[in-house]
Parts: sequence; structure tokens; C-alpha cells
Amino acid sequence: MQKYLESSVIVAKFGGTSVADLPALQRCADIIQANPAIRVVVVSAAAGVTNRLVALAKGKSNDAERMQLLSEIMAIQHSISGELLPTPEINAQLREYLSRMAELSAYLSEVGVEASKQDELLALGERCSSMFLAELLRQRGLTSRDFDACQVIRTDSHFGNAEARPMRIGMLAKEYLKPLLENYCVVTQGFIGSDAADRVTTLGRGGSDLSAALFAEALKAHALQIWTDVDGIYTCDPRQVPSARPIAEITFAEAAEMATFGAKILHPATLLPAQRAQVPVFVGCTREPEKPGTWIKSKTQQRPVCRALSLRRGQVLLTARSLNMLHARGFLAELFAILARHRISVDLITTSEVSVALTLDATGSHSSGNSLISNELLAELAPLCDVEVEDGLALVAIIGHELSNTPEVASRVFQMIAKKNIRMISQGASPNNLCILVREDDASDILNTLHRGFLET
Ligand code: ASP
Ligand code: MG
Repeated sequence: MQKYLESSVIVAKFGGTSVADLPALQRCADIIQANPAIRVVVVSAAAGVTNRLVALAKGKSNDAERMQLLSEIMAIQHSISGELLPTPEINAQLREYLSRMAELSAYLSEVGVEASKQDELLALGERCSSMFLAELLRQRGLTSRDFDACQVIRTDSHFGNAEARPMRIGMLAKEYLKPLLENYCVVTQGFIGSDAADRVTTLGRGGSDLSAALFAEALKAHALQIWTDVDGIYTCDPRQVPSARPIAEITFAEAAEMATFGAKILHPATLLPAQRAQVPVFVGCTREPEKPGTWIKSKTQQRPVCRALSLRRGQVLLTARSLNMLHARGFLAELFAILARHRISVDLITTSEVSVALTLDATGSHSSGNSLISNELLAELAPLCDVEVEDGLALVAIIGHELSNTPEVASRVFQMIAKKNIRMISQGASPNNLCILVREDDASDILNTLHRGFLET
């Protein structure tokens, strides 16, 4: 085996479809075995498991529904363990995880919803995956071990959408994780962490990419690999635009815009820890590891004006009108303070003399999947302003370089889609994007037209 060198550690993350069943886990193991620098492996729950755990965590299901969901989760986990033929210890551990799932979900529907118990339940999907992959690697002759991510990923106590504490994580990684890397390929869980009171927390849906980036940052890794079911980042979602093609290299700034504006493969905040630590990120396909994939780096060789397009459906436009806004100071501050209290992040914003329009994501990324525009929010806004909520909208973002300093970009966009209504436009805040808000029904046409105009010439 290649000598372990601290500076050459690679963190590899495998998503839900990559660990969905034993053949999929075997492909992960092939990738890990082929590269001895991969010392830390971060896994998601097997595909379909977290969705079911979220349903159970809501505590609304009756006995029969609960049993059904639990038996579906068990079927997924048992089909893996049945083929893997693990040690008696692993079987006992699996039984313990599954009975804990049953216990917690019964508690949540019978006694009542408790946020910390919800997260403890959600975490069990990832725990099963890391246990299986570590066992598979051992069976293949690798010294590997299953490591509890809660020992390192310290967060605040916002269950369901906890915020990581990178400084603490760095210290804990040094203490508990680094010493293991010399002798072990460590397999751990994405998505989960713990608060200062050692209660299990989760980072929000899709949070295992973020976990992997936090591990990469804490270990000052040589690279972070995100293995998924697509072979890299595309110029646009190929399901929307069939002529989309993979991008070889992209900057952190562009990739963060893409993630924020709808590209599904990366969690929007994922890249921050990797970017902070200047760890290059590779995105590749578990099924086709030989393909070039996409590298995300601080600097790329080429800096095209338009690199990619992205689409985010399900947008809500919230318009707040108040005559008090006329010549007033502090209206926006108050409005944003209320939104912040409801943990709502605003994407686009435009203002006029007496109104402000802003776009929000309809569901946000809260693990429980509840809508953000709650009655409590509307009640809190009512004394401040009249509120109008419009949905059925989509955000189309053009992502690239110097977009706000390049003549003709905006005029070309307007010409290309002259027949469509643009509900709102945002340009200039970042040189890396130009965003338009359009009717959801028009989105696909608009994307294809812009892709032809900007990316196929
Ligand atoms: N299993 C979690 C989810 O489905 C986290 C992840 O896969 O990134 O949201
Ligand atoms: Mg994911």
C-alpha cells in the first residue's frame, strides 16, 4: 500500500444512488481501492431511505402507514446485508439501528414531535450506509472502519437544518480522525453531526456534500471527490436541454451560483468549506469513473462570459407594499429581520418607491420539507405591509464571468426571448450571474433558446 501522506489525503463522497444496493456499493469500493489516497469516505443514506425517514419523522402516520414505511426501509437495508453476508456484529448493529428506527418513529407519532428525536431518526439512514461500506471494504482486504461523524461534525442546535462550526470541526478532526488515517480508510456518514450537548443534528436535505466538504477542509485534503449519478456538471440540466454537455473545469464562484440557482448535484453551501480551504472538488459518476468529470477550482484556464445556465422551479414571488416605505428608513431592515427569524433566505430582490419584491424558494432546504410561507410569517408581516404571494415561477440564471461588465449580454438575452414575459430581472450584484424570473411554463423553452444562443455557437 502507498505510504500515507497527510497532505495527499483525498475525501470521497458517495451519494444515495451510489450506495443504493450491493452492486452500487461494489462500484464505490472499486473506486476507493483504485486510489490509496482516498482515506476518508463520506456516504449518504441509500436512495429512498431518507425520504421515508422524513415521512416517519413528521409523526403523522398511523400504525399501518408507519409499518409500511419501516418495512420498505428494512427491505432496502436487508437486501444489502443479505448479499453482503456481514459478520454477526454487523448484523447485530443493523438490528439495533432498525429497532431504533421503529422506536423513534413510534414515539414521534404517539407521544409527539420532538426535533432532536427527528434528527436522531433521520441520521440512521446514513449510519446503515457507512456500516455496510466499511464492512465491504474489509471483506475486500482493506483496513477500514466505520467512524461516527458526530464525533467531528459539530453544529449548532438547529435540528433539521443545523449550522456547522468549522473551527470546532477542525479541532475535533485533528483529535479523533487524523490519528486513524495512517492505518485506516475511514468510512463515515454525511448529513449528520452533533451539537455541544452531543445530541444528533442534521444539516438539511442533501447535506452530505456539505459534510464531505467540511471533512476536506478540516483535514486540509488534497482533493474532494463527489461521486454521484451524473458524470460531472453540465452546461445545463440535460433533461431540460438535450444538447447540454459536461464542463471540464469551473470556478468555485460559478459552481456556487449554479448550485444556488438550481443545479441539483451540489448543495448550495457545500462548496464554501472546500473553497475556504482551497481544496479542489471533483464531480464524477460512480458508474463511469473513467469519464473526465468536472473539476471545481479557485482558478480555471478559461473564463468564458457564459459558462452555464441553470433553472430553479417552484419559486415564490413575495411583494411587500407599504406606504410607510415612502422616504422611510429601516423598512427593509424590519422586513428582512422578520424573514431571518423565520430562517428564510431571499434570492432576488427589486424595490420601487413603495414596494419590494423578493423571490423565495417554496420549500427551502429544511429536512422536514415544510413550506416556508407559514401563517405565522404572514401574521408577523401583516402590521408592516400588504403582502402578495405569487407562485408558479421559475428562476433562470446565466452563469459565467464579467457578465455585468460585458456589453450586449443583457440585450442578447432580451432579443432571444423577446416573446416571453420576464417577471423580474437581477443583474449586477455579482459578475457571475444574470437572473431572470419567468413563468414556470415558459422555462424550458427559454433555457433551450438561451443555450443555443450562448453555448452552442
Ligand atoms: N440523505 C440525506 C438526504 O437525502 C443527505 C444527502 O443525501 O445528502 O437529504
Ligand atoms: Mg445528494
